[in-house]
Amino acid sequence: MNDARDREIKESNRMRGKKHLKTTQEISGIVKEYYREREEKGRQPGQKIAWCGIAVPKQPLQAMDVLAYYPEQYGTVVATRGDPQRFIQVAEDFGLGREMCGYARITTGYILEGLPEDAPLGGMARPDMLITTSAVCDTRVKWWELMGELLEVPVFILEFAEMPPAGRDGAHINPEDMENIGIQIGRDDAPHTIEYTWENFAGYIAFLEEVCGRPTDQDRLDEITRASKRVSRIRREINEYRKNIPTPMGAADAFAAMFPGTYLPGTKMADEFYTRLRAEVRERMENRVGIVPEEKFRLVWSGIPFWYNMGLLNYFETRGGVVVIDTQYGCAALTSGNPLREPKRWGPNGMVASVVKAVIDYNCDGAVMSYTPTCRALYIVQQEIQNTLMEELGVPSLLLESDMVDASSFNEAQTMSRIDAFIEVVMEKAKERDWLPDPPPRYGPGE
Ligand code: SF4
Repeated sequence: MNDARDREIKESNRMRGKKHLKTTQEISGIVKEYYREREEKGRQPGQKIAWCGIAVPKQPLQAMDVLAYYPEQYGTVVATRGDPQRFIQVAEDFGLGREMCGYARITTGYILEGLPEDAPLGGMARPDMLITTSAVCDTRVKWWELMGELLEVPVFILEFAEMPPAGRDGAHINPEDMENIGIQIGRDDAPHTIEYTWENFAGYIAFLEEVCGRPTDQDRLDEITRASKRVSRIRREINEYRKNIPTPMGAADAFAAMFPGTYLPGTKMADEFYTRLRAEVRERMENRVGIVPEEKFRLVWSGIPFWYNMGLLNYFETRGGVVVIDTQYGCAALTSGNPLREPKRWGPNGMVASVVKAVIDYNCDGAVMSYTPTCRALYIVQQEIQNTLMEELGVPSLLLESDMVDASSFNEAQTMSRIDAFIEVVMEKAKERDWLPDPPPRYGPGE
C-alpha cells in the first residue's frame, strides 16, 4: 500500500471514542501501566511470559506469576494507538488473506517484523509459551499454531466443551424468555461435557507447571478465584444500574471499562477500579444523570466494535440516542468467575438469546451489529439475530460491515449514511414507548 493511501485511511476512518464518566477516563493510564509493568518484569531472570487467547482462564496464570499478554487485546492497542496497516501489510505480504481475522494479521505482522520496540506501548515481550482455547472460533487455533512455528515456543490448546445456553445457571439467560420466543435451550445435565472440561483444565495446569518448573499454589489460586468472583459481581451490579432510564453509563464507556475485569480479574486494582466505577454509576443513576440531555432512543451493540473508530458509538448521541449495552463483553460475558468447573456455554443460540435478552432487559429500540466477515464465528450469526429481533420483537437492527481492527475495510461514507437512515427508523420505533419523555425511575440491586 502506498503512503498516500495509508495516510488517507488513517485520517478518514478514525473517530476517537468519547467517555462520559470520570472513572473510565483512568483506563488509558491503566493500559499503559499494564504494558510498562510487563516490560519491566519481563526482563527479570526466570520470569515466564505467555501470549494467551482472550478466553484462557487468567487465574491460574496469575497464581503462577506468569506474565500474560493477549494478542487480541494488543490488536486493539495497535488499532487505537498506532498504525494497524503497518503490521497488516507485512502479514498479507507473507500470505495471510484479507479475509482473515484482523487481530491475527496484526500479530503475525508484528512477529514477522521481529517484535519491534517502536510498536505501540512497546509491544509484547517475547513469550516462553502460547496458550489459547478452542472457544468460539477455529481461527484462533490455527493462528496460535502459526505463532508457535514462527516463535519456536510450545503451544497449548485448551479444548472447551461448548454447550447451548443452559438457562438456569447460564447467568444471563432466562429459559422462559427464550423458550417463549422459540429459542432452543440446552440441557443443564451433561456430565460428560463437565468431565471433559475438567480433564482439559487439568491439562492446562499441568502444561503451566511444566513450563514454569513448579507446582501450582492452590491456596493462591483459590484466593484469586474468589477475588475474580467479587469483581464479576460488581460488574454485574453496574450492568443492572445501566438498565435505568436514562442510562447512567453507555457502551462507549463500558468497552473501555472492560479491560481490568477481562485481563486482570483477580487483582486488587480491578476490584478498586470497579468499586469506584460502581459508586459513580450509582450516583449518576440516583441523580438521573444520563449520557445525553434527553434520551430519545436506546440501542444494543452486538459483536466486536471497530476499535479504530470508537467514535461511532458516540455518533448516536448527537441524535439523542445511546448505545446502552453490548453483548460481546457486556452482559453476556460476565460469568461467575469460577475458571475450573464450568463448561463454556455459547454458540449461535446463545448469541441470539443474549441480544434478544439485552433488548428486553435494557428497554432498547434497536440493535447495531458489527458484521465482520473476517470473524466467521460472529459474522454468520448476526443475520439470524437480525431476523429474530424483527420477527419476534419487531425491533429494527443495522448490520455494519468491516473488520474490527483493519481500517482499510471500513467505508465511512456508506456507513454514516446507513446509520443516519437507521436512526430515523429507530426514532419512529421509540415513539411507541410510553415512558418518554419522563419515565419513572427504576433501580438496580443495592450493595
Ligand atoms: S475476532 Fe473472531 S476470528 Fe478473530 S480471534 Fe476473535 S472470534 Fe476468532
